[in-house]
Amino acid sequence: MREIKSIREMRLFSQKAKSHGKKIGFVATMGALHEGHLSLVAEAKKRSDIVVVSIFVNPIQFGPSEDYHHYPRSLKKDKEQLKHFDPSVLFIPDAKEMFPDGFKTHVEVDALSKKMCGRSRPTHFRGVTTIVTKLFNIVSPDIAFFGAKDFQQQLIIKQMVKDLDLPVEIVAMPIVREFDGLAMSSRNAYLSAKERSSATILNKALSLAKLEIEKGERDLRKILFRMRSLIGSEPIVRIDYLLAVKPDTLEEVESLKGKVLLAVAAHVGKARLIDNLLVSV
Ligand code: AMP
Repeated sequence: MREIKSIREMRLFSQKAKSHGKKIGFVATMGALHEGHLSLVAEAKKRSDIVVVSIFVNPIQFGPSEDYHHYPRSLKKDKEQLKHFDPSVLFIPDAKEMFPDGFKTHVEVDALSKKMCGRSRPTHFRGVTTIVTKLFNIVSPDIAFFGAKDFQQQLIIKQMVKDLDLPVEIVAMPIVREFDGLAMSSRNAYLSAKERSSATILNKALSLAKLEIEKGERDLRKILFRMRSLIGSEPIVRIDYLLAVKPDTLEEVESLKGKVLLAVAAHVGKARLIDNLLVSV
């Protein structure tokens, strides 16, 4: 695993790999790696000749009162974990090189960026789409892997790639969960033992909805009410949103028909956690 820090060196590496006809697979992360991240790396290994993993805690996707400074950073441990997957390159750019003084340009996907997480994090997705565009331009991947835990993020990136004719295939991979159903997240590290145990209610609420739909319940309002009540049984879990939306437009749906995404975001202690489940009716 070669470690690259400079944009120039990363670009040269990719140009050379491409000139040898190699297919580059890319996994962008903010580090504090867990099995969710590693599932993307494993898939990238299967589907490409060269795998590039980036670790960069992207300052412009955090709001002013969010956790940029406290975001978990564990580069040494991350490198240990990555070694088992042996990617070709670990790209760790420097924030000053990525965003030098005078940086002015942003990439923003309309509409989709304003829904769901975009309501409480109004500048988050333009930070994501800007950094992903920059990373795509530097790494030149043929294929890039994103997790369905951040469902809205992968949808926005697919839209951006389509709209801007970026020559990269986007692959979304399933959510990797802890033994008790909690979606893996770097932010789970913020949780105390009590908060960690209460946080499992989010996935329990999604599972409850799935079960009710399987049993034939079709009244979406009833389902959302029961989910809300269940989450309410854990008073330290504060719902930001609990929504049923169309998975392609993120527009709220009133009834259960076809594919519906159930999505939740909640604050638990210092962590803001998200989870979702795609159901087909
Ligand atoms: P992050 O480091 O949180 O920016 O995440 C980097 C990538 O890993 C994103 O594509 C995430 O969607 C993905 N990811 C994070 N957590 C999980 C998970 N539990 N399961 C699958 N993918 C995940």
